[in-house]
Amino acid sequence: MSKHLQAIRGMHDILPERIALWHCVEDTARQVLAGYGYAEIRTPLVEVTDLFKRSIGEVTDIVEKEMYSFDDRNGDSLSLRPEGTASCVRAAIEHGLLVQPQRLWYRGPMFRYERPQRGRYRQFHQIGVEAFGLAGPDIDLELILLTARLWRLLGLSGFRLEINSLGDADERLAYREQLIAYLASHADQLDADSLKRLHTNPLRVLDSKHPQTQQIVAGAPSLMDHLGEETRTHFERICRGLDDAGVAYRVNPRLVRGLDYYNRTVFEWITDDLGAQGTVCAGGRYDGLVEQLGGRSTPAVGFAMGLERLIELLELAGHTSEPPLDAYLVAVGEPAQAAAPLLAERLRDAVPALRLLTHSGGGSFKSQFKRADKSGARYALVLGETELERGVIGVKHLREEGEQRELGFDELAAFLRMPG
Ligand code: ATP
Ligand code: MG
Repeated sequence: MSKHLQAIRGMHDILPERIALWHCVEDTARQVLAGYGYAEIRTPLVEVTDLFKRSIGEVTDIVEKEMYSFDDRNGDSLSLRPEGTASCVRAAIEHGLLVQPQRLWYRGPMFRYERPQRGRYRQFHQIGVEAFGLAGPDIDLELILLTARLWRLLGLSGFRLEINSLGDADERLAYREQLIAYLASHADQLDADSLKRLHTNPLRVLDSKHPQTQQIVAGAPSLMDHLGEETRTHFERICRGLDDAGVAYRVNPRLVRGLDYYNRTVFEWITDDLGAQGTVCAGGRYDGLVEQLGGRSTPAVGFAMGLERLIELLELAGHTSEPPLDAYLVAVGEPAQAAAPLLAERLRDAVPALRLLTHSGGGSFKSQFKRADKSGARYALVLGETELERGVIGVKHLREEGEQRELGFDELAAFLRMPG
Protein backbone atom coordinates (compact mmCIF):
# COMPACT_ATOMS: atom_id res chain seq x y z
CA MET A 1 0.00 0.00 0.00
CA SER A 2 1.38 3.39 -0.89
CA LYS A 3 2.19 5.83 1.89
CA HIS A 4 0.09 8.97 1.98
CA LEU A 5 1.94 12.00 0.75
CA GLN A 6 2.29 14.69 3.38
CA ALA A 7 3.51 18.26 3.65
CA ILE A 8 7.16 18.62 4.55
CA ARG A 9 7.99 18.70 8.27
CA GLY A 10 7.85 22.25 9.57
CA MET A 11 5.86 23.49 6.56
CA HIS A 12 2.14 23.94 7.00
CA ASP A 13 -1.04 24.27 5.03
CA ILE A 14 -3.15 27.22 6.06
CA LEU A 15 -6.69 25.91 6.00
CA PRO A 16 -9.81 27.99 5.26
CA GLU A 17 -10.92 27.78 8.91
CA ARG A 18 -7.87 29.83 9.95
CA ILE A 19 -7.52 32.13 6.98
CA ALA A 20 -9.55 34.93 8.60
CA LEU A 21 -6.73 35.45 11.09
CA TRP A 22 -4.22 35.80 8.27
CA HIS A 23 -6.43 38.28 6.47
CA CYS A 24 -6.81 40.24 9.67
CA VAL A 25 -3.03 40.60 10.17
CA GLU A 26 -2.23 41.16 6.50
CA ASP A 27 -5.01 43.67 5.86
CA THR A 28 -4.31 45.65 9.01
CA ALA A 29 -0.58 45.76 8.27
CA ARG A 30 -1.20 46.87 4.70
CA GLN A 31 -3.50 49.61 5.89
CA VAL A 32 -1.02 50.86 8.51
CA LEU A 33 1.92 50.75 6.07
CA ALA A 34 -0.03 52.67 3.44
CA GLY A 35 -0.81 55.22 6.12
CA TYR A 36 2.92 55.83 6.61
CA GLY A 37 3.65 55.97 2.87
CA TYR A 38 5.41 52.61 2.51
CA ALA A 39 5.19 50.85 -0.87
CA GLU A 40 5.07 47.09 -1.33
CA ILE A 41 7.83 45.27 -3.20
CA ARG A 42 7.72 41.60 -4.25
CA THR A 43 10.90 39.71 -4.97
CA PRO A 44 11.56 36.07 -5.99
CA LEU A 45 11.60 33.36 -3.34
CA VAL A 46 14.93 32.08 -4.67
CA GLU A 47 18.19 34.02 -4.94
CA VAL A 48 21.84 33.13 -5.51
CA THR A 49 23.26 31.71 -2.28
CA ASP A 50 26.01 34.28 -2.30
CA LEU A 51 23.54 37.09 -1.67
CA PHE A 52 22.68 35.65 1.74
CA LYS A 53 26.25 34.72 2.59
CA ARG A 54 27.41 38.24 1.84
CA SER A 55 24.60 40.00 3.68
CA ILE A 56 23.56 37.85 6.63
CA GLY A 57 27.15 36.78 7.31
CA GLU A 58 29.03 33.48 7.02
CA VAL A 59 29.25 32.90 10.78
CA THR A 60 25.55 33.05 11.62
CA ASP A 61 23.00 30.36 12.44
CA ILE A 62 21.14 31.07 9.23
CA VAL A 63 24.05 30.70 6.82
CA GLU A 64 25.86 27.99 8.76
CA LYS A 65 22.99 25.60 9.19
CA GLU A 66 19.54 26.89 8.29
CA MET A 67 19.56 27.58 4.55
CA TYR A 68 17.77 25.53 1.93
CA SER A 69 20.49 25.63 -0.72
CA PHE A 70 20.71 23.58 -3.89
CA ASP A 71 22.49 23.58 -7.21
CA ASP A 72 20.46 24.77 -10.16
CA ARG A 73 20.67 22.62 -13.28
CA ASN A 74 23.46 24.80 -14.59
CA GLY A 75 25.47 24.40 -11.39
CA ASP A 76 24.71 27.80 -9.75
CA SER A 77 24.15 27.58 -6.01
CA LEU A 78 20.70 28.96 -5.19
CA SER A 79 18.84 29.29 -1.88
CA LEU A 80 15.26 29.68 -0.77
CA ARG A 81 15.22 33.04 0.95
CA PRO A 82 15.65 32.78 4.72
CA GLU A 83 14.69 36.44 5.21
CA GLY A 84 13.65 39.43 3.13
CA THR A 85 16.15 42.22 3.69
CA ALA A 86 18.89 40.85 1.44
CA SER A 87 16.49 40.44 -1.50
CA CYS A 88 15.04 43.87 -0.90
CA VAL A 89 18.48 45.49 -0.97
CA ARG A 90 19.48 43.48 -4.04
CA ALA A 91 16.34 44.60 -5.87
CA ALA A 92 16.69 48.22 -4.79
CA ILE A 93 20.27 48.35 -6.11
CA GLU A 94 19.44 46.45 -9.28
CA HIS A 95 16.58 48.78 -10.21
CA GLY A 96 18.25 52.01 -9.20
CA LEU A 97 15.65 52.73 -6.52
CA LEU A 98 18.20 54.21 -4.14
CA VAL A 99 18.76 57.54 -5.88
CA GLN A 100 16.16 58.89 -3.47
CA PRO A 101 14.84 57.77 -0.07
CA GLN A 102 12.60 54.71 -0.28
CA ARG A 103 10.13 53.30 2.18
CA LEU A 104 9.41 49.72 1.19
CA TRP A 105 7.68 46.69 2.64
CA TYR A 106 7.31 43.05 1.65
CA ARG A 107 5.50 39.96 2.80
CA GLY A 108 5.67 36.27 2.14
CA PRO A 109 7.17 32.94 3.06
CA MET A 110 10.73 32.51 4.34
CA PHE A 111 12.57 29.21 4.68
CA ARG A 112 14.94 28.06 7.39
CA TYR A 113 15.99 24.54 8.25
CA GLU A 114 15.38 24.78 12.00
CA ARG A 115 14.06 22.28 14.51
CA PRO A 116 10.29 22.64 14.19
CA GLN A 117 8.51 23.53 17.43
CA ARG A 118 5.85 25.92 18.63
CA GLY A 119 6.43 29.28 16.91
CA ARG A 120 9.32 27.94 14.86
CA TYR A 121 8.76 26.44 11.44
CA ARG A 122 10.74 25.66 8.32
CA GLN A 123 8.43 27.66 6.11
CA PHE A 124 7.13 30.70 7.96
CA HIS A 125 5.82 34.08 6.92
CA GLN A 126 7.04 37.57 7.54
CA ILE A 127 5.96 41.08 6.84
CA GLY A 128 9.05 43.25 6.68
CA VAL A 129 9.69 46.94 6.27
CA GLU A 130 12.84 48.69 5.02
CA ALA A 131 13.58 52.42 4.82
CA PHE A 132 16.54 53.45 2.65
CA GLY A 133 18.46 56.69 2.39
CA LEU A 134 17.39 58.11 5.76
CA ALA A 135 20.11 58.42 8.36
CA GLY A 136 18.41 60.22 11.25
CA PRO A 137 16.93 58.70 14.40
CA ASP A 138 13.47 59.96 13.37
CA ILE A 139 13.09 57.10 10.93
CA ASP A 140 14.13 54.45 13.46
CA LEU A 141 11.49 55.98 15.72
CA GLU A 142 8.89 55.99 12.93
CA LEU A 143 9.34 52.25 12.43
CA ILE A 144 8.89 51.51 16.11
CA LEU A 145 5.82 53.75 16.37
CA LEU A 146 4.39 52.11 13.26
CA THR A 147 4.68 48.68 14.86
CA ALA A 148 3.16 49.97 18.11
CA ARG A 149 0.19 51.27 16.08
CA LEU A 150 -0.18 47.91 14.37
CA TRP A 151 -0.36 46.08 17.70
CA ARG A 152 -3.01 48.54 18.89
CA LEU A 153 -5.12 48.05 15.78
CA LEU A 154 -4.81 44.29 16.05
CA GLY A 155 -5.90 44.51 19.67
CA LEU A 156 -2.68 42.89 20.86
CA SER A 157 -1.33 44.18 24.13
CA GLY A 158 1.31 43.04 26.58
CA PHE A 159 4.26 43.27 24.18
CA ARG A 160 7.59 44.43 25.61
CA LEU A 161 9.85 46.61 23.55
CA GLU A 162 13.59 46.11 24.01
CA ILE A 163 16.13 48.32 22.29
CA ASN A 164 19.87 48.63 22.15
CA SER A 165 22.58 50.31 20.13
CA LEU A 166 25.33 48.25 18.57
CA GLY A 167 27.36 51.34 17.71
CA ASP A 168 29.12 51.85 14.40
CA ALA A 169 31.69 49.47 12.90
CA ASP A 170 34.79 51.06 14.47
CA GLU A 171 33.14 51.31 17.89
CA ARG A 172 32.12 47.70 17.69
CA LEU A 173 35.63 46.71 16.67
CA ALA A 174 37.16 48.35 19.72
CA TYR A 175 34.53 46.73 21.93
CA ARG A 176 35.06 43.37 20.27
CA GLU A 177 38.67 43.22 21.44
CA GLN A 178 37.64 43.83 25.03
CA LEU A 179 34.79 41.36 24.82
CA ILE A 180 37.05 38.64 23.42
CA ALA A 181 39.59 39.25 26.16
CA TYR A 182 36.88 39.02 28.83
CA LEU A 183 35.23 35.91 27.37
CA ALA A 184 38.59 34.22 26.77
CA SER A 185 39.40 34.62 30.44
CA HIS A 186 36.22 32.59 31.17
CA ALA A 187 36.62 30.19 28.26
CA ASP A 188 36.40 27.09 30.46
CA GLN A 189 32.86 28.07 31.50
CA LEU A 190 31.42 28.79 28.05
CA ASP A 191 29.19 26.37 26.12
CA ALA A 192 30.60 24.75 22.98
CA ASP A 193 28.76 27.01 20.50
CA SER A 194 29.89 30.16 22.25
CA LEU A 195 33.44 28.91 22.46
CA LYS A 196 33.40 28.34 18.72
CA ARG A 197 32.16 31.89 18.15
CA LEU A 198 34.56 33.49 20.58
CA HIS A 199 36.89 34.68 17.85
CA THR A 200 34.62 34.63 14.80
CA ASN A 201 31.45 36.32 16.09
CA PRO A 202 31.89 37.17 19.79
CA LEU A 203 28.88 39.52 19.90
CA ARG A 204 26.60 36.55 19.30
CA VAL A 205 27.84 35.07 22.56
CA LEU A 206 25.97 37.91 24.27
CA ASP A 207 22.60 36.48 23.32
CA SER A 208 23.45 32.86 24.02
CA LYS A 209 20.50 31.03 25.57
CA HIS A 210 22.86 28.79 27.57
CA PRO A 211 22.35 29.42 31.33
CA GLN A 212 25.97 29.21 32.37
CA THR A 213 27.14 31.33 29.45
CA GLN A 214 24.45 33.87 30.38
CA GLN A 215 25.99 34.13 33.84
CA ILE A 216 29.40 34.90 32.34
CA VAL A 217 27.84 37.36 29.90
CA ALA A 218 26.19 39.24 32.76
CA GLY A 219 29.63 40.39 33.86
CA ALA A 220 30.90 41.28 30.38
CA PRO A 221 31.84 44.86 29.45
CA SER A 222 28.91 46.75 27.92
CA LEU A 223 28.85 48.00 24.35
CA MET A 224 26.88 51.03 25.53
CA ASP A 225 30.03 52.29 27.24
CA HIS A 226 31.89 52.21 23.92
CA LEU A 227 29.53 54.37 21.91
CA GLY A 228 30.87 57.59 20.44
CA GLU A 229 29.04 60.87 20.79
CA GLU A 230 27.19 60.61 17.49
CA THR A 231 25.87 57.10 17.97
CA ARG A 232 24.97 57.88 21.56
CA THR A 233 22.96 60.95 20.52
CA HIS A 234 21.23 58.95 17.79
CA PHE A 235 20.18 56.38 20.36
CA GLU A 236 19.09 58.95 22.93
CA ARG A 237 16.90 60.73 20.38
CA ILE A 238 15.03 57.50 19.73
CA CYS A 239 14.58 56.91 23.45
CA ARG A 240 13.31 60.45 23.93
CA GLY A 241 10.90 60.05 21.01
CA LEU A 242 9.52 56.87 22.56
CA ASP A 243 9.13 58.65 25.91
CA ASP A 244 7.27 61.51 24.24
CA ALA A 245 5.00 59.11 22.37
CA GLY A 246 4.26 57.19 25.55
CA VAL A 247 5.71 53.90 24.24
CA ALA A 248 7.32 51.94 27.05
CA TYR A 249 10.67 50.25 26.39
CA ARG A 250 13.62 48.71 28.12
CA VAL A 251 17.23 49.25 27.07
CA ASN A 252 18.75 45.78 26.89
CA PRO A 253 22.54 46.01 26.45
CA ARG A 254 22.68 42.28 25.62
CA LEU A 255 20.36 42.54 22.63
CA VAL A 256 22.50 41.89 19.55
CA ARG A 257 20.28 40.12 16.95
CA GLY A 258 21.31 37.12 14.90
CA LEU A 259 22.36 38.78 11.67
CA ASP A 260 25.70 40.41 11.01
CA TYR A 261 24.57 43.47 9.14
CA TYR A 262 23.11 45.55 11.96
CA ASN A 263 24.67 48.71 13.38
CA ARG A 264 23.38 51.32 15.82
CA THR A 265 19.73 50.67 16.64
CA VAL A 266 18.40 47.17 17.20
CA PHE A 267 15.00 46.40 18.69
CA GLU A 268 12.65 43.54 19.43
CA TRP A 269 9.02 43.25 20.44
CA ILE A 270 8.60 40.32 22.78
CA THR A 271 5.62 38.60 24.38
CA ASP A 272 5.44 36.15 27.27
CA ASP A 273 2.32 34.49 25.88
CA LEU A 274 3.99 32.20 23.34
CA GLY A 275 6.43 30.20 25.43
CA ALA A 276 10.06 30.10 24.31
CA GLN A 277 9.52 31.72 20.91
CA GLY A 278 8.44 35.09 22.23
CA THR A 279 9.93 37.54 19.72
CA VAL A 280 7.20 38.69 17.35
CA CYS A 281 9.07 41.46 15.58
CA ALA A 282 12.72 42.35 15.29
CA GLY A 283 14.83 44.82 13.40
CA GLY A 284 17.41 47.50 13.36
CA ARG A 285 19.67 49.77 11.37
CA TYR A 286 22.04 48.40 8.74
CA ASP A 287 23.86 51.36 7.22
CA GLY A 288 26.67 49.30 5.70
CA LEU A 289 24.71 46.64 3.86
CA VAL A 290 23.84 48.42 0.63
CA GLU A 291 27.48 49.26 -0.04
CA GLN A 292 28.55 45.78 1.02
CA LEU A 293 26.27 44.38 -1.69
CA GLY A 294 27.67 46.66 -4.36
CA GLY A 295 25.42 49.71 -4.12
CA ARG A 296 26.21 53.29 -3.23
CA SER A 297 26.63 53.83 0.51
CA THR A 298 23.04 54.23 1.75
CA PRO A 299 21.76 54.33 5.32
CA ALA A 300 18.99 51.84 5.99
CA VAL A 301 16.77 50.60 8.77
CA GLY A 302 14.10 47.92 8.88
CA PHE A 303 12.35 45.15 10.74
CA ALA A 304 10.49 41.91 10.14
CA MET A 305 7.63 40.34 12.05
CA GLY A 306 6.71 36.69 12.20
CA LEU A 307 3.09 36.21 11.12
CA GLU A 308 2.62 32.73 12.62
CA ARG A 309 3.44 34.10 16.06
CA LEU A 310 1.08 37.08 15.67
CA ILE A 311 -1.65 34.80 14.44
CA GLU A 312 -1.27 32.45 17.36
CA LEU A 313 -1.66 35.46 19.65
CA LEU A 314 -4.82 36.57 17.86
CA GLU A 315 -6.17 33.07 18.19
CA LEU A 316 -5.39 33.01 21.91
CA ALA A 317 -7.21 36.34 22.18
CA GLY A 318 -10.31 34.70 20.72
CA HIS A 319 -10.38 36.07 17.18
CA THR A 320 -11.94 33.50 14.92
CA SER A 321 -13.90 33.44 11.75
CA GLU A 322 -14.41 35.45 8.59
CA PRO A 323 -17.61 37.54 8.55
CA PRO A 324 -20.46 35.15 7.74
CA LEU A 325 -22.24 34.86 4.44
CA ASP A 326 -25.16 37.20 3.87
CA ALA A 327 -27.26 34.88 1.81
CA TYR A 328 -27.59 31.40 0.36
CA LEU A 329 -29.57 31.05 -2.85
CA VAL A 330 -31.84 28.01 -3.00
CA ALA A 331 -33.26 27.11 -6.40
CA VAL A 332 -35.70 24.24 -6.81
CA GLY A 333 -36.91 22.79 -10.09
CA GLU A 334 -35.40 22.92 -13.54
CA PRO A 335 -36.55 26.44 -14.60
CA ALA A 336 -35.53 28.02 -11.27
CA GLN A 337 -32.13 26.32 -11.38
CA ALA A 338 -31.59 27.69 -14.85
CA ALA A 339 -32.57 31.21 -13.74
CA ALA A 340 -30.58 31.21 -10.47
CA PRO A 341 -27.09 32.00 -11.81
CA LEU A 342 -28.35 35.08 -13.61
CA LEU A 343 -30.30 36.24 -10.57
CA ALA A 344 -27.12 35.85 -8.50
CA GLU A 345 -25.12 37.90 -11.00
CA ARG A 346 -27.72 40.67 -10.98
CA LEU A 347 -27.70 40.71 -7.17
CA ARG A 348 -23.90 40.95 -7.11
CA ASP A 349 -24.10 43.86 -9.56
CA ALA A 350 -26.67 45.64 -7.44
CA VAL A 351 -25.06 44.92 -4.04
CA PRO A 352 -21.27 44.82 -4.56
CA ALA A 353 -20.45 43.97 -0.93
CA LEU A 354 -22.87 41.03 -0.91
CA ARG A 355 -21.54 37.65 0.26
CA LEU A 356 -23.75 35.26 -1.61
CA LEU A 357 -23.38 31.51 -2.00
CA THR A 358 -25.47 29.85 -4.70
CA HIS A 359 -26.58 26.28 -4.21
CA SER A 360 -25.09 23.91 -6.71
CA GLY A 361 -26.17 20.40 -7.60
CA GLY A 362 -29.98 20.60 -7.38
CA GLY A 363 -31.99 18.61 -4.85
CA SER A 364 -35.17 19.06 -2.84
CA PHE A 365 -36.17 22.15 -0.88
CA LYS A 366 -35.39 20.31 2.31
CA SER A 367 -31.88 19.26 1.36
CA GLN A 368 -31.02 22.70 -0.01
CA PHE A 369 -32.30 24.38 3.14
CA LYS A 370 -30.15 22.14 5.23
CA ARG A 371 -27.12 23.32 3.30
CA ALA A 372 -28.24 26.93 3.58
CA ASP A 373 -28.49 26.58 7.33
CA LYS A 374 -25.09 24.89 7.59
CA SER A 375 -23.44 27.60 5.51
CA GLY A 376 -23.88 30.09 8.33
CA ALA A 377 -25.64 32.55 6.01
CA ARG A 378 -28.03 35.05 7.47
CA TYR A 379 -30.78 34.57 4.89
CA ALA A 380 -31.95 31.91 2.52
CA LEU A 381 -33.15 33.30 -0.79
CA VAL A 382 -35.71 30.99 -2.35
CA LEU A 383 -36.43 30.63 -6.02
CA GLY A 384 -38.98 27.94 -6.93
CA GLU A 385 -41.42 27.53 -9.74
CA THR A 386 -44.13 29.70 -8.15
CA GLU A 387 -41.70 32.49 -7.25
CA LEU A 388 -40.36 32.43 -10.78
CA GLU A 389 -43.87 32.74 -12.22
CA ARG A 390 -44.73 35.64 -9.94
CA GLY A 391 -41.39 37.43 -10.39
CA VAL A 392 -40.49 37.37 -6.68
CA ILE A 393 -37.81 35.84 -4.45
CA GLY A 394 -38.58 34.31 -1.06
CA VAL A 395 -36.51 35.55 1.89
CA LYS A 396 -36.19 33.45 5.01
CA HIS A 397 -34.25 34.43 8.13
CA LEU A 398 -31.87 31.67 9.16
CA ARG A 399 -30.19 33.15 12.24
CA GLU A 400 -32.85 35.23 13.92
CA GLU A 401 -36.60 35.51 14.23
CA GLY A 402 -38.24 37.33 11.36
CA GLU A 403 -41.17 36.87 9.08
CA GLN A 404 -40.70 35.07 5.84
CA ARG A 405 -41.45 37.35 2.90
CA GLU A 406 -41.44 37.64 -0.83
CA LEU A 407 -39.69 40.54 -2.52
CA GLY A 408 -39.32 41.72 -6.10
CA PHE A 409 -35.78 42.10 -7.40
CA ASP A 410 -35.37 45.82 -6.57
CA GLU A 411 -36.88 45.41 -3.11
CA LEU A 412 -34.59 42.46 -2.47
CA ALA A 413 -31.51 44.40 -3.56
CA ALA A 414 -32.50 47.27 -1.26
CA PHE A 415 -33.10 44.83 1.59
CA LEU A 416 -29.70 43.15 1.14
CA ARG A 417 -27.99 46.52 1.01
CA MET A 418 -29.56 47.48 4.33
CA PRO A 419 -30.84 44.40 6.10
CA GLY A 420 -32.36 44.65 9.52
P1 ATP B 1 14.74 33.74 16.71
O1 ATP B 1 15.61 34.35 17.75
O2 ATP B 1 13.33 33.44 17.21
O3 ATP B 1 15.37 32.60 16.00
P2 ATP B 1 15.56 35.42 14.59
O4 ATP B 1 16.44 36.41 15.22
O5 ATP B 1 16.15 34.28 13.85
O6 ATP B 1 14.50 34.88 15.64
P3 ATP B 1 14.63 37.23 12.53
O7 ATP B 1 15.49 36.68 11.48
O8 ATP B 1 14.95 38.54 13.10
O9 ATP B 1 14.48 36.15 13.70
O10 ATP B 1 13.11 37.22 12.04
C1 ATP B 1 12.15 38.15 12.51
C2 ATP B 1 10.94 37.43 13.07
O11 ATP B 1 10.52 36.38 12.23
C3 ATP B 1 11.18 36.76 14.40
O12 ATP B 1 11.09 37.67 15.44
C4 ATP B 1 10.06 35.77 14.44
O13 ATP B 1 8.84 36.39 14.82
C5 ATP B 1 9.96 35.34 13.01
N1 ATP B 1 10.69 34.07 12.79
C6 ATP B 1 12.02 33.89 12.63
N2 ATP B 1 12.31 32.59 12.42
C7 ATP B 1 11.13 31.93 12.46
C8 ATP B 1 10.75 30.56 12.30
N3 ATP B 1 11.64 29.61 12.03
N4 ATP B 1 9.43 30.24 12.41
C9 ATP B 1 8.50 31.18 12.65
N5 ATP B 1 8.79 32.49 12.80
C10 ATP B 1 10.09 32.88 12.71
MG1 MG C 1 16.59 32.27 14.34
